[in-house]
Amino acid sequence: MQSKLTEHDRYDVLVVGAGPAGASAARSAAEAGASVLMIDRRNRIGEPVQCAEYIPRMLAAQVKIPEGAVVQEVTALVTVLPDGEVVRKSAPGFILDRARFDRGLAEEAEKAGVRVLPETQALSQSSGGITLRRRGKGLQVQTDVIVGADGPRSTVGAWIGRCNRRFLVGLQHTVMLRQPMQETEVYLGSHYPGGYAWLFPKGDRANVGVGIQPALGGALKPALAHIQRYLGDRIGPVVARTGGLIPVGGPLKAFDEVARVMLVGDAAGQSHAITGGGIPQAVICGAMAGQAAAEAAGGGAGAFTRYERQWRSVFGALLERAASKREEMESQWHAGELSQLLRRCWIACPEYHHAA
Ligand SMILES: Cc1cc2nc3c(=O)[nH]c(=O)nc-3n(C[C@H](O)[C@H](O)[C@H](O)COP(=O)(O)OP(=O)(O)OC[C@H]3O[C@@H](n4cnc5c(N)ncnc54)[C@H](O)[C@@H]3O)c2cc1C
Repeated sequence: MQSKLTEHDRYDVLVVGAGPAGASAARSAAEAGASVLMIDRRNRIGEPVQCAEYIPRMLAAQVKIPEGAVVQEVTALVTVLPDGEVVRKSAPGFILDRARFDRGLAEEAEKAGVRVLPETQALSQSSGGITLRRRGKGLQVQTDVIVGADGPRSTVGAWIGRCNRRFLVGLQHTVMLRQPMQETEVYLGSHYPGGYAWLFPKGDRANVGVGIQPALGGALKPALAHIQRYLGDRIGPVVARTGGLIPVGGPLKAFDEVARVMLVGDAAGQSHAITGGGIPQAVICGAMAGQAAAEAAGGGAGAFTRYERQWRSVFGALLERAASKREEMESQWHAGELSQLLRRCWIACPEYHHAA
């Protein structure tokens, strides 16, 4: 990786954030002929991992999963409702080594010609360019188009006044697993206000976590302790801890043509407001954003609105529906009848798909 950056540096496209959305956008912009700089404030791309690491199998049909990034396959999603009913739904997918996944996508971008700079944070935008901080030093770069792929609390989104406003907060332990598992498990109920607990197997380990909506009451540590007690001796010692924010307010308008900005992934609120899953949308919308950014940088008219139309045609209805289900779930959380409410609002239940 090159490390020197000078004030004279100019790129067609600057991608802020080297997660799945950014790496995918950067790669597709470079493949479409743009000069691309991708920066990330982290020291090592992909770390620390802040994810339960499940992706649906369908993503593999659309994206080459980096070598070594799949830890195991899973076949189904088992949901446990508060009244004890258990719903099993086919949900074939993979549990990733997310650090390898992110690193692999960034390496593919680099192979396509993207200049990749970790330890580099986007600070502000002005007529003079984009101000970055790299290893304690400030500098400016010039760019024609900015792709904000900088996660739930996007700095680039703030520049154009598009910010996620509603979040689940997540806390997760990776634990040793006593018996191998082939299914993911989800637990719903009053211990996990507005969210859920999960047990996702990962070879001889598993990710056990909780995501909750703080505005509905409850606290993360007791919620995580509750699911760990419930799982009892199915799980062993804790080997890693993580957590993070999940945007659940629904998708944002993901561009500002005057500011020449596109947003993608969590920065654009493209995560699913009920499940919190966001990796497939980040990768797929990232490819769309990168292509559009290259077109815009090459003078193509209408590239910003085309990006918005394109990603909405694939994910818009799904994400808007999830956001409206969340609205329903949060507004009625304390109204009693929690199992019925969760049947209407949780994706594994038929009511989720049929209710208006
Ligand atoms: C606890 C938890 C569990 C989850 N589990 C799953 C799951 O099992 N399956 C699933 O599909 N999704 C899951 N998600 C959601 C998923 O992790 C996100 O949807 C996904 O990471 C979005 O990718 P992204 O590239 O948009 O953002 P991110 O992966 O967040 O990447 C953003 C990058 O931008 C960088 N950055 C931020 N600000 C700046 C700046 N100013 N300058 C430079 N760089 C910056 C960050 O360092 C980061 O590397 C989970 C999330 C959490 C918190």
